[in-house]
Amino acid sequence: MGRVYNFSAGPSMLPEAVLEKAAKQMIDYEGCGMSVMEMSHRSADYEAIIGRAESLLRELMNIPDNYKVLFLQGGASSQFAMIPLNLFKKSKKADFVITGQWSKKAASEAAKYGSVNKIASSEDKIFSYIPKLDASKFDKDADFFHITYNNTIYGTRYTTLPDTGDVPLVADISSIALSEPIDVSKFGLLYAGAQKNMGPAGVTVVIIREDLIGSVLEGTPTMFDYKIHADNDSMYNTPPTYAIYMCMLVFEWLKELGGIDAMYKINQEKAKILYDYLDSSSMFRGTVEKEDRSLMNVPFVTDSDELNAKFIKEAKARGFVNLKGHRSVGGMRASIYNAMPVEGVKALVEFMKEFEENNK
Ligand SMILES: *Cc1c(COP(=O)(O)O)cnc(C)c1O
Repeated sequence: MGRVYNFSAGPSMLPEAVLEKAAKQMIDYEGCGMSVMEMSHRSADYEAIIGRAESLLRELMNIPDNYKVLFLQGGASSQFAMIPLNLFKKSKKADFVITGQWSKKAASEAAKYGSVNKIASSEDKIFSYIPKLDASKFDKDADFFHITYNNTIYGTRYTTLPDTGDVPLVADISSIALSEPIDVSKFGLLYAGAQKNMGPAGVTVVIIREDLIGSVLEGTPTMFDYKIHADNDSMYNTPPTYAIYMCMLVFEWLKELGGIDAMYKINQEKAKILYDYLDSSSMFRGTVEKEDRSLMNVPFVTDSDELNAKFIKEAKARGFVNLKGHRSVGGMRASIYNAMPVEGVKALVEFMKEFEENNK
């Protein structure tokens, strides 16, 4: 079997050119006589790799100099604890907008260390929209304000950001990082598990404004202290060396393609192809409010569970895999991250039309 069109929500598809390059360099990285996996993280060769990964990411995302970039482990899920442990400095209060499972988890973790104020939630309609925010409910004394920028499971995304004034805005950008321009200077902290849009699983990127680094709550484990990682250039302990190298290759690929602005145009085009079809189909429909639609994760359904199952099965046989929706939404979900080519989305839509025709 050749390569399939992989619509997995994560770990997800990587650009083929990146996989090919990694394959070429697998046994002998640039004349070093060893694989990147076998290198000491303290070697000059590896320091060049992590340094290049960081500088490419800074360039792509236009990260200001007063922000640190950290390559950590433990997934985005560890950040749910690490953020309050480091950012609960004064009031130990935080504002959260609840737009899905990930923000719920982040909020309940923060509630272990301080008090969580839920500004708004879209749980009443199975998280199918981004709630309108009433700024009068924002706590001016909060130590941070947390959002999940793009909701991987439900397929919604923010198109305007809350104005939190002096309260640092913190965002989980796991499934939106590198897919569209993000103004880093609007945030105190951004974090992303790499396995959605940056590289393989195993590395978590944290972008943090320097003034937020320093104190931690008493009893915080050393490994959960941003200062330890910032002071040691993400080398306090062994970093996920190979995963960071893969991210470097993805960043190179993205730069070559024209950077995030160019990628964003392609992502808008891909999403439009799929949403336009969903809006015109009499069998399939999208599950979220139009104005809040994600460009990365596109959930959709038919009116029948049998038809959904039949669709997923037949799609798989034709090389469109991982289309089954999250268990909490049902139906289907097509994740169309950066690595999914326009042709993949076009081919999926052609298949959906054919399926609709054959199952009237
Ligand atoms: C996948 C995902 C997570 C969880 O990431 P892990 O790296 O598995 O901990 C958290 N938030 C969002 C938005 C995600 O998409």
